Amino acid sequence: MPISSPNRPQTPLREDMNNVVKHIPTEREQAFLDSIENSKLDRQSINGLKPFLEEKADADVQSFYSKEEIEELRALTGSERDVESRMPVKMTRHYFDLAKNSLPIQRLVKASVSETENLEGSEDPGHQMDYSPVEGLLHKYELGLLYVTATCSAHCRFCYREELIGRKEVQRQDGTVAKKGLALIDDVTTYIRAHNQAVTKNGGKHPGSGREKLREILMSGGDPMVLSNTKIAAWLGALAESGIEAIRIGTKELAFFPQRFDDTFFAMIDRFHETYPDVGLRLMIHFNHPDEFLAKDANGDYIEAPSGILKWHPQTHQAMQGFASRGWISIENQSPIIKGINDDADALRIMQRSLKRVGANNHYFFCGRDIIAYKAFNVPIETAWHILNESQKGLSGVETHARLSITHYKGKTEVVAVTNEPLAGVPGSEKGVVIFKILRNAADAPDRGLVSIVARNPDAIWFDGYDDRVIFDEAGLFEYSRVQARPTEARS
Ligand code: SF4
Repeated sequence: MPISSPNRPQTPLREDMNNVVKHIPTEREQAFLDSIENSKLDRQSINGLKPFLEEKADADVQSFYSKEEIEELRALTGSERDVESRMPVKMTRHYFDLAKNSLPIQRLVKASVSETENLEGSEDPGHQMDYSPVEGLLHKYELGLLYVTATCSAHCRFCYREELIGRKEVQRQDGTVAKKGLALIDDVTTYIRAHNQAVTKNGGKHPGSGREKLREILMSGGDPMVLSNTKIAAWLGALAESGIEAIRIGTKELAFFPQRFDDTFFAMIDRFHETYPDVGLRLMIHFNHPDEFLAKDANGDYIEAPSGILKWHPQTHQAMQGFASRGWISIENQSPIIKGINDDADALRIMQRSLKRVGANNHYFFCGRDIIAYKAFNVPIETAWHILNESQKGLSGVETHARLSITHYKGKTEVVAVTNEPLAGVPGSEKGVVIFKILRNAADAPDRGLVSIVARNPDAIWFDGYDDRVIFDEAGLFEYSRVQARPTEARS
């Protein structure tokens, strides 16, 4: 069934890497770095289950878990089903305060024995290591992704980076097994320069891989916002100097600890913008539910202004305004649709409307990935499509920009449509079909726009749920095998 894939790791040649001088701050960069002040913040993090198991958490926090829940979790400690071996438990005081008044928020951070009932799933979702030319950098698309840290202020139980945050060992393409490492500025900027120099020299395409310029970088992890301003600035300056055109910061900090976006942070990005006015900044935010940012009364109802507009939580609103008032930053929300958290059309409608009103774009909703234990979190693909479609009824055009995406090993695909009616004359489509379309695949997305059509399976939560009912597979989503070549050039 699997056939060889056209997707190959895209790396500079060894000689390209050797011809590039390691990153040393320029005068301009150093002046920017010298201007940075760090925040003095206390997230009041509640780390791990231990404080709960030993009843040493603050009295109000201890009640986050019932005695029965604690006993159930304790019984799994040290076993294969230990919930913390799968994904460490963590939350901030701010998020705990939100959770007191919200069941979805509780579910997002609260460990449950149900999450390790079925531990099926991939240890490296998306086979990301196939596209890692240097440690901590994924270069699959025109965009590179960096692991700059391995933690967040709080941990979502459904996290699609659980292998990184849980510091698990992952098998590499060459068969070796190791934890995913974090990116280093020198390695990454050397790689970017080498790749881009080779591309320029060769008239716009890399001579080895045929790839174009690496022009955009996503700082991710974990959440870059757990780093100090100084460390974030060091990455921003180095990436700008290495010729990157746009930098994304992927963060859920607006939900977990909006106070992080204080005057020192905004002063830092203002200084960055003054120093590098041509480099775009994109804030990739991660709200899953409106309870993470809207103000609620004691009954758990959203608070309305006299105009009927729903009010934001004051600290979250202040942070969001800090970004929205700087027109040179774009703000994009993306969120998976997760069982018991936001598989709710009304909540998603309110979220899309409220985000767009304050200047955040609704970028993507995702079907859950095939992480370890994904069956505890993933909503069936067709259900997710219906929920999103329902949620967008009654919204304006600009509020409904988000598409439903599911990340295939080959690349990002859109769940374009789910029909109730058969396709006339097409056997297998009697109960309706699902249409997937490739949005991006490795390199410069040669397969963009290609589609796959499968007969419906309302229980499918991953592509394999459709393996026995493929009708049309122009996109090759159901005939795919992992890339074989190892990106040795850049590693050595
Ligand atoms: S914010 Fe993102 S990376 Fe962090 S725990 Fe949640 S899903 Fe994982």
